[in-house]
Amino acid sequence: MTVRVVATVGHPVLREWAQPLDPDELHNPQTQSLIDDLIDTMRYYNGAGLASPQVMASKRIVVIEVKSNPRYPYKPDIPLTVLVNPELEPLTDETFANNEGCLSVPGFRGVTNRFVKIAVRALDRHGKLLERDVSGLSAVTFQHEVDHLNGTLFLDRVEDPTTFTTWEQFERFERDAFAARAARLVSRFGS
Ligand code: ZN
Repeated sequence: MTVRVVATVGHPVLREWAQPLDPDELHNPQTQSLIDDLIDTMRYYNGAGLASPQVMASKRIVVIEVKSNPRYPYKPDIPLTVLVNPELEPLTDETFANNEGCLSVPGFRGVTNRFVKIAVRALDRHGKLLERDVSGLSAVTFQHEVDHLNGTLFLDRVEDPTTFTTWEQFERFERDAFAARAARLVSRFGS
């Protein structure tokens, strides 16, 4: 298992437009090791996902997995998904006011507006085309991770700066109300 160092906000790599992969690069053992390390690092830190720039490799790769996540207990499970060169397209104008955090922004959370239904098109780690519609709270996770490939952090999407909280104060003052709203979204979409 290899857990890599996670870059935190202020590191320039988080602000770069990450490089697309030529599908042939997926045959390269170094690329496969990077994907394995992303998965190990995401699991080690209880992330719901991790994007390659967060481990200072500016490539268009994200990994996502939610399995009874203690950091985000209200998130429904998402099986392990590796996205290479992902493209997202909103399938609705409806958004959800999501209270989100990020391993690269330690300690802070804030409210962003995320589409509740998106189409995902990417390659998997073997170069096979992956097309999937994702909805509900899971769609939020995909949008957060793909933002990282374009140098965007959730901080940039917080429209009301008064929604910033530390994790401690989120737990104290906001968690119950947010968990109830999240549960309603999840029950509507089943994800
Ligand atoms: Zn993040």
